[in-house]
Amino acid sequence: MVIDCHYHYYPDEFDLMRKRAEMKREGIDKIALMGQINPFFSAELGEEVLAQLQAALGHKEYEPMLKGVIADFTEKGIRMGGVEYPIFFEPDNEGVFAACDKAPDLLYGWVLVCPKGKINPVEELKRWEKHPAFIGVKAHPFYHHYAVEALEPVARRLQELKKPMILHLAYDQFENIRKIALAHPDMPVILAHAAFPDFFNCWESLAKVPNMYVDLSSDAYLGEAMTVSVVKALGPDKCMFGTDGPFGIHRPDGTFDIGFIKRRLERLFPDKEVQQKLLGGTFARLIGVKA
Ligand SMILES: [Zn+2]
Repeated sequence: MVIDCHYHYYPDEFDLMRKRAEMKREGIDKIALMGQINPFFSAELGEEVLAQLQAALGHKEYEPMLKGVIADFTEKGIRMGGVEYPIFFEPDNEGVFAACDKAPDLLYGWVLVCPKGKINPVEELKRWEKHPAFIGVKAHPFYHHYAVEALEPVARRLQELKKPMILHLAYDQFENIRKIALAHPDMPVILAHAAFPDFFNCWESLAKVPNMYVDLSSDAYLGEAMTVSVVKALGPDKCMFGTDGPFGIHRPDGTFDIGFIKRRLERLFPDKEVQQKLLGGTFARLIGVKA
């Protein structure tokens, strides 16, 4: 089974009929949906800028420069390419699970939580944890600006449920999330985008924690070199396919290319057993469904 473990739900973009056809065309069986953190913006930077960005990511000496490009936070949001976008602190999980209800054969739902918002994260988790599409919790401490310790109560509940947490980490948070993972061994912890923004600096340490994983999503944050390195460092039992859709490469007709990263993984890792794990086997094991 092929599962995209990381896709942001924008109702206008996520036309179910069209998405179903796209998934069929690309050989993707399931999508794990999560809420929006900001309005949609085009993240296509052009080949040259993208190559420079990808070569700099993870290297400490470029961190100040990188922060100016990808972490240019303002009072209300974030500036990307000179345009300011608001950041949403009140997650719309209702929309995500309503979409799951319309296509239970295609969709799983992450509960997005934000300890900085008005909605209590544990209450929000409890509101959705019995939903048939529920698979775990998404947290974005990078855009939502909080210390990962704020997620402790959510981690305790996920430990009881034996369900995963997927996180888009901020700078200098790896050590603290590692401690949370160690203290909650039945909660798989998936670091989005190959453990952005620390990347290879933390892979050796991450490899030693049985319940820590990464996803391979985002064609902006992960180039081919980074993708190959992370799978080599952690192995296919700790890495999983995700797109970060609808952010990323779009097709000439203007729709998000949901198959881009899948095709990349198939090309880079021709071994069928490795492919099976990367494209869905590993994630299916974490969420307790049959691969
Ligand atoms: Zn994302």
